[in-house]
Amino acid sequence: MERSFERSGGCVCGAVRYVATGAPLRVGLCHCLTCRKRHGAPCNAFAAYPIERVGIVGETRTWEDPQHGRHHGCPTCGAPVFWSAEGDGEIEIHLGGLDEPGQFTPQYEVWVRRREPWMPPLNVPQYVENRPAGSPS
Ligand SMILES: [Zn+2]
Ligand SMILES: [Zn+2]
Repeated sequence: MERSFERSGGCVCGAVRYVATGAPLRVGLCHCLTCRKRHGAPCNAFAAYPIERVGIVGETRTWEDPQHGRHHGCPTCGAPVFWSAEGDGEIEIHLGGLDEPGQFTPQYEVWVRRREPWMPPLNVPQYVENRPAGSPS
């Protein structure tokens, strides 16, 4: 594997670290209430990877959300680090946890009906709520 295709990140205190290899499956922004509250932020920016391409070091504390899946955070500093769902084989890392900015640009936005009014839309597909099943990428 080329090192240039590795992206590293983790929590604030460094107890949880990860390296994601290769290109993500998709990159998005979610404005839903769960993401807003979970991150304490106006939205959640994420990159989805096949779970086998993300190596994780350190223990996470998890919270199971029946609608979204399993949220993983650092038990020491409390930072949200990634998200996984039972069965789909994917993991979503949060862009704010990456060590370097500018690595990914979101390809779509979901739950835009909950977007902060001061936040302009990106020039990407916009979905009022979830993406319909079978959407491209
Ligand atoms: Zn931490
Ligand atoms: Zn969301």
